[in-house]
Amino acid sequence: MVMKTQTTGRLVGKTALISGGAGGCGRSAAELFAHEGARVAIVDLPHSDGEALAAKIREAGYEAVFAAADVSNEEEVGHAVNAAVEALGPITVLFNHAGSLIVKPFLETTAAEWDRLMAVNVRSMFLMTRAVLPGMIAAGGGAIVCTSSISAVAATPGEVLYDTTKGACHMFARAIAVEYRDRNIRCNAVCPGFIKTAHGERELELLTGIGVDVSESAIAAQQGRMCRPDEVARAALFLASDEASFISGTHLFVDNGFTAI
Ligand code: NAD
Repeated sequence: MVMKTQTTGRLVGKTALISGGAGGCGRSAAELFAHEGARVAIVDLPHSDGEALAAKIREAGYEAVFAAADVSNEEEVGHAVNAAVEALGPITVLFNHAGSLIVKPFLETTAAEWDRLMAVNVRSMFLMTRAVLPGMIAAGGGAIVCTSSISAVAATPGEVLYDTTKGACHMFARAIAVEYRDRNIRCNAVCPGFIKTAHGERELELLTGIGVDVSESAIAAQQGRMCRPDEVARAALFLASDEASFISGTHLFVDNGFTAI
């Protein structure tokens, strides 16, 4: 295998950690960020495709490692971040993307489901960012991109828990941006509409099951078509790159006008 020495690319010289990097938009971002010159650490569940994806990226001549973690678990996040830094150097781009979903009428949801979704979608960003920031600051700065959603500002029936977690992600990105601006850290959020990923397809199936119209024509009326994972990855790439050098604390909607109405 020949290692490519890349001199051009929008992330040359950066080390990117992508949570939820083994599937969907995270996978797309792992491949795109590597292609743009970043060393890439994929953090995802142990049974995910993370190891195979890291190997595939290395075979293409780039640097990539997989570190397994449930991102809601403090100890596992600490180990994964340490392993990534040991292999690739200090993290200068963090894409907080991992997340999950619960779709149920609100009165049927349980406290355990609330706690679990808050842990996977919100506590994960807190744990990951807290573990990565000291090294990022010591390295002179960096960029954080958090995956929020249209659901942070536009509610869907059956998604009270999910919408609430994404509202928290939305504000987390802003609050980090303000507190760490003077340490040369930028933090932004990408806010996708419905995406054609395992998460998005499960969401459509579950919403249909409780009688919410997410038919092709309903989706077409709201956002034209389903979003592709690479379209979210490319928005995250822009925010992670130096092209976004004066952009921090913002929410970039990747929704083809869903929230513009
Ligand atoms: P996906 O399901 O294809 O990917 C999610 C990845 O996160 C998977 O690889 C999964 O293994 C990983 N993951 C899940 N729970 C984890 C955990 N506890 N620890 C470590 N890794 C974990 O879906 P996707 O659509 O690319 O990503 C989901 C993210 O995108 C979530 O943050 C979700 O809120 C957000 N989002 C999705 C949509 C959509 O329609 N798909 C829309 C807006 C926002």
